[in-house]
Amino acid sequence: MPDTTRRPFRGGSRVLLHPSRAEVFSNDAAISWVGRVAACLRSCSCLFFLGLGLGIFTASSRPVAAKVSAQRFEYSLPRMGTIFRIEMYAASDVDASKAAEAAFSRAEELEQIMSDYRADSELMLLMRDGATAPFPVSSDLYSVLAKSLWVSRLSRGAFDVSIGPLVDLWRNARKSGRLPDPEEIAKAKALVDYRNIELDPVHHTVFLKRAGMKLDLGAIGKGYAADQMLAVLQSQGIHQTMVVAGGEVVTGEPPPGSSGWRVRIDSADSDAGVAPCTLLLSAHAVSTSGDEHQFLEVNGHRYSHIINPRTGWALEGKSSTTVIARDSATADALATAFSTMSVSDGIRVAQSLPGVSALWVRRVGGEWKYYTSRGFPASCHGLPEGSQ
Ligand code: AMP
Ligand code: MG
Repeated sequence: MPDTTRRPFRGGSRVLLHPSRAEVFSNDAAISWVGRVAACLRSCSCLFFLGLGLGIFTASSRPVAAKVSAQRFEYSLPRMGTIFRIEMYAASDVDASKAAEAAFSRAEELEQIMSDYRADSELMLLMRDGATAPFPVSSDLYSVLAKSLWVSRLSRGAFDVSIGPLVDLWRNARKSGRLPDPEEIAKAKALVDYRNIELDPVHHTVFLKRAGMKLDLGAIGKGYAADQMLAVLQSQGIHQTMVVAGGEVVTGEPPPGSSGWRVRIDSADSDAGVAPCTLLLSAHAVSTSGDEHQFLEVNGHRYSHIINPRTGWALEGKSSTTVIARDSATADALATAFSTMSVSDGIRVAQSLPGVSALWVRRVGGEWKYYTSRGFPASCHGLPEGSQ
C-alpha cells in the first residue's frame, strides 16, 4: 500500500447523485502493482471525481442492452486513503443509491476500526492497551486478525500482521531516501512475531504478548472491507455487482448477458511493455501485490513496500503476484504472503486451498518469467507458452 493510503481520510461523505458522465469504466477494473491510487488516476472517472473535490460521492448510470431492465450504476468515494468504487446493475437509481450508500457507510465503519492513522480507531486502542490485559474487540477486528493469523500460519510467517515496527522504519527510509540502519532493523524485527498475538474465541479478546508490538492491516484491510461492502450490497438485493477497494476487486454475479466482470491485471511485466491480461470474474476476488510506485531506490537497488519479516528487509527488484480467491481478504493477504515466499512454496499453498489460484511474474536473469498454480485462468494469459 502506498503511503498515500495511510493518510487519514478527511473528506465528508455527502452524497451527490448526478446523471451519467459518459461510459467511464465500461465494466473494467484495473488492479495495479504500480500503485492503486495511480491506477485510479489513470481512469477518467477518477480524474473527474478528483476534479469535483474529495468527499463527493459520484455516480453514473446508463442503460445496458434493451432486453434487460437492469441499468448500470457506478459510485466512487475516498475510503482508507484510496478510492473505493462500486459498479452494479439495479432496477432503479433509488435502489442503486440506497445500496451504495449502505455499502460506503460500512466501509467508513471499518475504517474507524482498522485505521492506524486515527488515534481513536479500535486498532489503535488495542495497540495501546492490548499488551496489559486481553482486550475485547469487535467481531470485525477479531475476524480480520483471525484471518491474518491463518495466513501467517499457512505462509510460515511470510505474512505477519505484527509487521508494524518494520513498516514504520521502511516508510521513513522512503521519505529520507536512505536505507534503515541494520541495528534499527534488528530492534524492530524483534517486535515482529504473529505468534505473540493471542486470540480468545470465547471472550473475543486479543492479547499482545510483547509490549511495543504494532499491528498493520495494510495487506488485508482493504480486501476485508471489499468483502463486507459486497455483503451489504447483496443484502440490499444487489447481486450483479463489483466492488473495487483501491486495488482489491471482488465480484458478485456477472453483468447481464456476460459471464463475468472484466478485470485487468497490471502486473510487473505490463510496466515493461508486456500487454496486461484481463480476467473474467464472478463470485471471486482478485488481488495483485508487488512493487509500489513509492519504492525506495538506493545504489541501483529497488526496495518494495513489502517486507520479509524473517530478515526485516524490504523485498528487492521488480515482481508481482496475483491471487484469485473466493473472497477479497484472502486474495489480498495471500498476494502479500506469496510475494515474500518462494514461488514453489506459494504454488504448494495455493494448490492446497479450494478456490485459490495465483500468477507469479518474476524477473529472472534479465527476463520475465511466469509461473501459475493449477487453475489460474488460461484466458488471462498474455503469458508465453509453457509458463506453468
Ligand atoms: P499489499 O499491497 O496488499 O501487498 O500490502 C502491503 C502493505 O502491507 C505494506 O504497505 C505494509 O503496510 C504491509 N506489509 C508489508 N509487508 C508485509 C508482510 N510481510 N506481511 C503483512 N503485511 C505486510
Ligand atoms: Mg495484500
